[in-house]
Amino acid sequence: MNTFSVKAYGAETKDSDLIEMNINRREVTPNDVEIEILYCGVCHSDLHTARNDWGGSMYPAVPGHEIVGKITKVGSNVSKFRIGDLAGVGCLVDSCQTCDSCRQDLEQYCENGSIGTYNGKDKHIGGHTFGGYSQKVVVDQNFVLNIPKNLDLAAVAPLLCAGITTWSPLRHWKVGPGSKVAVVGLGGLGHMAIKLAKGLGAEVTLFSRSPEKTADAKELGADDVVISTDSDQMKSVKGKFDVIIDTVPYIHDINPYITTLNINGTHVLVGYLGGLEPILNTVPLILGRKSVAGSLIGGIAETQEMLDFCGEHNIVSDIEMIKMQDINNAYERMLKSDVKYRFVIDMQSL
Ligand code: NAP
Ligand code: ZN
Repeated sequence: MNTFSVKAYGAETKDSDLIEMNINRREVTPNDVEIEILYCGVCHSDLHTARNDWGGSMYPAVPGHEIVGKITKVGSNVSKFRIGDLAGVGCLVDSCQTCDSCRQDLEQYCENGSIGTYNGKDKHIGGHTFGGYSQKVVVDQNFVLNIPKNLDLAAVAPLLCAGITTWSPLRHWKVGPGSKVAVVGLGGLGHMAIKLAKGLGAEVTLFSRSPEKTADAKELGADDVVISTDSDQMKSVKGKFDVIIDTVPYIHDINPYITTLNINGTHVLVGYLGGLEPILNTVPLILGRKSVAGSLIGGIAETQEMLDFCGEHNIVSDIEMIKMQDINNAYERMLKSDVKYRFVIDMQSL
């Protein structure tokens, strides 16, 4: 298969900074589009992968799965896009498209393994996939999204991961007018969860460790802010919530949040992957028919639904634009929660 070289930014090992490098992209096959990347959001998962926090990272690791850009080439079978169109790519670039999950538009749960935009198996040119910290990407048209034209393009980028990851559980657990939703953690995912839950008509509360984020949270749409380290504040919302979207990236005690769920309420973990400590107390679960659940990004149709909803409701991410060369500093700042509320890379800087 013919390939071409593009500039990218990636990590050579788990301990190294990200540096400029060259990677190969395939020439478009009949079903592919080639996209010139204009902006790429910076997700905490990028950092987890670059630093091998979850194990299984392949190097060089070129992260980035909040991609927006312009189509520069289309394959001969491409009907959904034309050269010059705006396009988005999120966390997925392929799946089997034939299993039960794929047929239900749940490609993220593909039974044969969906292919991540980075750190996935590249079945076209071998090796592993490289993400959006690069000049161009080539993707099957079925995994490319239409971008609403009325929104600020750079601020749309984070919708492709932070947006869909919070939208999917809000939709699955049928959030709408009258729902009481809480969001744990005000970062990239958390600020999108607030905006989207509010857009769906819910009453929204933020749980945060950071009192200084209170004013911002209210501006983003939160009706209330509860400081999770203050036990009196936690007691004041006992039994209140129908759905909690928990975006905290690291191990944490979820027991205090379970007591704030209403009967039939669900605590949805989207942030932390791994075993929880301390042990989960099942008493409040059983006595209140409560659930603890997880959720992974969202399918392609659902991502389009979310983008269209954002277009109609004028919802975008609050972003801080950076140059590609600033990425290592941005990772350090993200670890300190020092970002309002998503870094987006201006890819022209590469
Ligand atoms: P982020 O911007 O860094 O935000 C995380 C927020 O969690 C912080 O702003 C902070 O909010 C809170 N927090 C951070 N460290 C904490 C700690 N040690 N204890 C308690 N709270 C803490 O990260 P993000 O990009 O939103 O990503 C969040 C997580 O979701 C990451 O682990 C990422 O890999 C994961 N993720 C999952 C999916 C999925 O499909 N399930 C998709 C994308 C990302 P406060 O200061 O308000 O407390
Ligand atoms: Zn992400």
